[in-house]
Amino acid sequence: MVDFECFMFRSLSLEEFVSAFTVNPEQGQVWYGWWSEEYDRLSWRFYKEQYNRHLLQEFRDFCFANSLKLSYPDELEESYDSDYYQNAWKRWQEQSQNLQEHWEVVECLLEEHSRPPRSQAIAETLQEYQQQLKQGWTDVEFETAKAAWFNVNFAAPSATEQRELNQLPYRSYLRSDRWRRMRAAMLLINFAKCAACGVLAESHYGGDWETEIHVHHLRYRKRGRERYTDLELLCKAHHDQEHHD
Ligand SMILES: [Zn+2]
Ligand SMILES: [Zn+2]
Repeated sequence: MVDFECFMFRSLSLEEFVSAFTVNPEQGQVWYGWWSEEYDRLSWRFYKEQYNRHLLQEFRDFCFANSLKLSYPDELEESYDSDYYQNAWKRWQEQSQNLQEHWEVVECLLEEHSRPPRSQAIAETLQEYQQQLKQGWTDVEFETAKAAWFNVNFAAPSATEQRELNQLPYRSYLRSDRWRRMRAAMLLINFAKCAACGVLAESHYGGDWETEIHVHHLRYRKRGRERYTDLELLCKAHHDQEHHD
C-alpha cells in the first residue's frame, strides 16, 4: 500500500479576500462570489484528482504483482474471458476496499467544495465572464486573489525552520513536507497549467500532471519562504528551456 498523500487547503475568508484589494465593500462582495465559485471548481477537481491518482497507483502496483498488463480498473472488469482475470478481479475488489477509507477523506473535501462543473457550464461561463469584465473582475484580479489564497495557506516559517530548510540540499528540500504542500497548492490554484504555453488544463488534471507540470522557482533565494510570485508552473519542455537559456 502506498501512502495516500492528500493535501488540504483552506479557502479565503471574505475579510482576507477583501483586504487584498482596494475596492468598496459591495464590489468586494461581488468579486468574492466569483472568486469562490472559481475556487470551488478548482479545488473540487483537485481533491478528486488526488484520490484518482492514488487509486491508479494502487491498481498499477496490483497489476505488476499479478503480471497483468492493464492500466485501469475497468479493463480488469471487462476481461471476463478467463478464470485468471476473474480471480484477479475478485482479489482487486477485496484489496481496493482499503481505498474506501481514503475515499471518506476525499468525500468530506468534495462536500466542502462541491460545485461540480455543470452541463451548461460553457454557456454560463461565457455569460459570467462578460458580466465580470463589466464589473472589473479580470485575470488581474483573479491573480491577486490566487496570490492572497496561496500566501494565507503558507505562513512564514520560524527562524529555526527557515535555517533547517536552507541547510537542506536542494534535492532534499524538494522532498520536504513544506515544498510538497506548496507545489500541490500551485498546481491546484493554477489548474496544473503551463504558464508559458498554457497547455489545456484538463489533460493534466486527468493525466499524470505531477511529472508533466513542474513548479519552477523564479527566485531561489526565497527558498523555504516562497510567496506566490516566486513560483511558476511550467511544462517539462518549457522548464528545460528555462534552465538551459
Ligand atoms: Zn509549456
Ligand atoms: Zn526550475
